[in-house]
Amino acid sequence: MILRRIRRKLYKITHPAIAEVWMLHRVVDSRSDLPGERTLEVTPTWLRQQVDQHLAAGGRFVSLDTLMHELQQPAKRQKGTVAVTFDEGCRETLEQVLPLFRQRQIPFALFVATDFVGGAHPIGWYRQQPPMMSRDELAAVCRDPLCTIGAHTVSHPHLCQLSEAQMMEELTLSRQQLEERLHIPIRYFSYPYGERNAAVMDCARQAGYTAAFEAWGGAVRTRANRYNLPRIPKTQTP
Ligand SMILES: [Zn+2]
Repeated sequence: MILRRIRRKLYKITHPAIAEVWMLHRVVDSRSDLPGERTLEVTPTWLRQQVDQHLAAGGRFVSLDTLMHELQQPAKRQKGTVAVTFDEGCRETLEQVLPLFRQRQIPFALFVATDFVGGAHPIGWYRQQPPMMSRDELAAVCRDPLCTIGAHTVSHPHLCQLSEAQMMEELTLSRQQLEERLHIPIRYFSYPYGERNAAVMDCARQAGYTAAFEAWGGAVRTRANRYNLPRIPKTQTP
C-alpha cells in the first residue's frame, strides 16, 4: 500500500501534468432525480461558472489538435490547459453549449456514436431518451471552427467483450460513417464507458486514430500513451 503510494508519487513527479480533458455528457436546465442519469447531467449555469472560473484563474481552453501538438512539444505547454469534450451527441449541446462557447471562443469536441445520431437507436441507460443531434445538425456544428468531431463507435458496445474483428468493425465503421457524412477527417476516439484493454487500444491505433480517450484517470501527463489518454468527468454535485 505504502509502496504503491510512493510509486504513484514518483510517477507524478517524473511525469508532470500537461493538461486536463474534461468529460461531459448532457447539459440540461432540469436534472433528473435518478442518480445514474443525474451524474451525467450538468446545468448550463453550472457549466458557465466552471468555464468562467477557469478563465478567471488564468486558465485556457484548447482544441484536441492543440492538445496533441503540445503533448509532443514540451516548449509549447502552458499551465491551466483544458480541452472540453462531450460524449454521445445530445442536441442540448447545440442549444446550451454552443452560444456560451462561441461567446468565449472555447473549442470543444463531440464524441458521437453513429447509431445514436438522430435518435435512430435508443441509448440503453436513459429512462427517457435525450434528444439527439440529427445528421444535418451534426453537419452544421462540425463546420464551426471551434468544434472537433470524434468517433465513439457505432453502437456504443462494451468493447472489451467483443471479438477483435467486432472491435475493429466498431472502430473503423464509425470513423468511415462520420467521414463520409461530414466530409472531414476523424482523428479522435473515446472509449464507450471508458472501457479499454490492450487489444482495444491496438485496434484504435490500427483504425488510424491519432488518439483515444478514456473516461477517468486525472490529468494528461508527459509521455502519456496516446491511446489511453485520461479525462476528468465534470460532475455537478449534488
Ligand atoms: Zn458514451
